[in-house]
Amino acid sequence: MPPIIPSVGLPDPTLQPDPPLTSSNSSPVFDPTKVTVVYILGGPGSGKGTQSAHLVQDYGFIHLSAGDLLRAEQDRSGSEYGQLIKDTIKDGKIVPMEVTVKLLENAMHAKLSNATGKFLIDGFPRKMDQAAFFESSVCPSTCTLFLDCPEDVMKERLLNRGKTSGRSDDNAESIKKRFKTYVETSMPVVDHFERDGRAVKVSAVGTEQEVYERVVEGLATKGISPQK
Ligand code: AMP
Repeated sequence: MPPIIPSVGLPDPTLQPDPPLTSSNSSPVFDPTKVTVVYILGGPGSGKGTQSAHLVQDYGFIHLSAGDLLRAEQDRSGSEYGQLIKDTIKDGKIVPMEVTVKLLENAMHAKLSNATGKFLIDGFPRKMDQAAFFESSVCPSTCTLFLDCPEDVMKERLLNRGKTSGRSDDNAESIKKRFKTYVETSMPVVDHFERDGRAVKVSAVGTEQEVYERVVEGLATKGISPQK
């Protein structure tokens, strides 16, 4: 175990940047019979946040966005990791998994009631090491919802969003880097879950409502239905 920084409860990612990860590392913190985890993945601008909002409303998911948690940690005064997160996000790279996984785990503890909960984890896992580490030490996922979207559509959406989002990474230069990271580092995670039969792939082209209809149909194939 890397040392934990007491003030924030986060491990120091610089001390052990790439720990060996195996499923026998440790047992999951959360009981998967009580806690449901669904990941939502897709390229930048594929509509993860937009579709998540519908899923929260209709399915009662607790939504945790890895990007939002990282941006909050980046802005938290006194954060040990603020600058590291800031530089990594602007550069379209992947924040070290020790930081990201710990932020997610902390957020899950904070939102859980009676040790049960249904989490929709957005923009995670974006790299194979995160996937292996989270599944073995935090909670195995039920399935991954993958929003499949061509780059030209995503680019147009991001540039549009960039006019008002104020995000440091919604600009042409950062977008190019984010696409590269997505193809090289994040797609292998989707491929992995597709191979083991836990991925639901839907086309993210079309209107918000059209995409959502496909999402609902896809989740139904995994036995996940809206709340009555
Ligand atoms: P998003 O808000 O999902 O578009 O993420 C914005 C940025 O936050 C990404 O380009 C990464 O730099 C960082 N980030 C988001 N999710 C993760 C993750 N799971 N692991 C590491 N870095 C992440």
